[in-house]
Amino acid sequence: MSTSSVNWHERAAALRIDGRGLIDGLRCASLTGQTFDKHSPVDGRLLAPVMRGQQADVDAAVHSARAAFADRRWAGQAPAARKKVLQRWAEKVLAARDELALLETLDMGKPIRKSLNVDVVSSANCLAWYGEAVDKIYDEIAPTASTALALITREPMGVIGAIVPWNYPMIMACWKLGPALAAGNSVVLKPSEKSPFTAVRLAELAIEAGLPPGVLNVIPGFGHEAGEALALHPEVDAIGFTGSTRVGRRMLSYAGESNLKRVYNELGGKSAFLIFEDSDVEAAARTAVGAVLFNQGESCNAPTRILVQESLMPEVLAAMRDEARSYEPGDPLDEATNMGAVVDQGQMKTVLGYIDKGLAEGAELACGGQQARQDSGGFYVQPTVFAGVRNDMVIAREEIFGPVMGVIPFRTEAEAIALANDSQYGLQASVWSKQIDRAHRVARALQAGTVHVNQYDEDDITVPFGGVKQSGNGRDKSLHAFDKYTELKTTWLRIEP
Ligand code: NAD
Repeated sequence: MSTSSVNWHERAAALRIDGRGLIDGLRCASLTGQTFDKHSPVDGRLLAPVMRGQQADVDAAVHSARAAFADRRWAGQAPAARKKVLQRWAEKVLAARDELALLETLDMGKPIRKSLNVDVVSSANCLAWYGEAVDKIYDEIAPTASTALALITREPMGVIGAIVPWNYPMIMACWKLGPALAAGNSVVLKPSEKSPFTAVRLAELAIEAGLPPGVLNVIPGFGHEAGEALALHPEVDAIGFTGSTRVGRRMLSYAGESNLKRVYNELGGKSAFLIFEDSDVEAAARTAVGAVLFNQGESCNAPTRILVQESLMPEVLAAMRDEARSYEPGDPLDEATNMGAVVDQGQMKTVLGYIDKGLAEGAELACGGQQARQDSGGFYVQPTVFAGVRNDMVIAREEIFGPVMGVIPFRTEAEAIALANDSQYGLQASVWSKQIDRAHRVARALQAGTVHVNQYDEDDITVPFGGVKQSGNGRDKSLHAFDKYTELKTTWLRIEP
């Protein structure tokens, strides 16, 4: 990862952030005048007052998006024209890299180096990729009798509501915006109240790149207000949701209570990482710890249940402890830092509460377990490894969403598979073994949307991302994401003999 000589503290001090939303291409306050104060988890500083979107604001945004869809100012453009706009947008995102990265870091606490090199770059890549894909996808003609012609086409759905979380605010937004907009839909985006700023800047850059006003509107606000109004809205045709399983459940209820809009849920995880006795132990331990601690443990796919074959336990634990020490939380505005702040005080308390629960249930603290950097005024938690964890403990069942992992022993392959699958979640999993048969056998048996073998976190926009069981439905990324934001239409034409 490259580093620069920018003084991020000076830049942060000079920053003036606009917390308003965006409707019809223009920045706007809430029609009710309501705002909320957004503080930074980096050091507690006030960043800006933010629009607290209400029902009336969501109505205005949805009507604007509907009008844009109805007059086909975007959907009616040739795919090649939409491609150009998305490509220009991606270029503008990259050109605004420093500004977007700083906003992301101040807003949710991740290290500036990651915001620069991961979040901004992946977001731009995602937008460009869907732009490039859209004029290379063909529709179908069915093999019917010669007296008819049956066309199977993909149509944009209309207005998509995108409701996204705070852990990768730009990336999660782009995973929805890329395919939904490339396919010709209009979108109303509701970013998390914990990370509102980059979403609105992304939308401004889209307008600069040529996206017609109204096609993408952004309403910041709280879930139970703006989010609920969007998910219940009768003029919204589908919801692309990423967030907790608790709220994903509500998305399905909202759809049932309103217009049966399609709901695509990308939800939580408690992914298992299986280390068999014939693994490269050092690489396995390093990878597991790195995958959990990346983004302060605030990743849906963090492999927080580390299943280790009993004979390896002392060796794995020692290697994990060594690796965890290299992730001490630091100043997110320092480019050398590789672990930053958790998103807010509430999240920090939740994580520390789970650590207490783990201790109360009899798990042993191998390292960490405390708040860190109290003097900063921000919210930091030490990398924490629990040993002696049982799969029925709360810390092995519930998503903690912080830098905490539990090591669970197993004896046999069958036991390892049973433990890994004994979870309400099914997002990802990883198998470590040098035996190719075992690796395939176990990979097949694991209930997860993605299984890694002898690695973790290999990732690319070309592959689908999503879970089974209560980790969600539908898939973000890859060409499969177009399935979520298009409807199949059949058109029969009669051909006279
Ligand atoms: P969350 O469910 O609390 O909130 C997500 C979004 O939903 C936010 O914008 C929030 O304002 C909104 N929301 C909350 N309550 C709502 C309601 N009643 N109606 C409508 N909208 C509502 O999740 P979070 O804490 O922001 O994010 C963390 C969660 O996201 C974790 O569970 C994580 O695993 C999950 N996640 C999943 C993926 C994936 O691809 N599977 C990716 C990233 C994060």
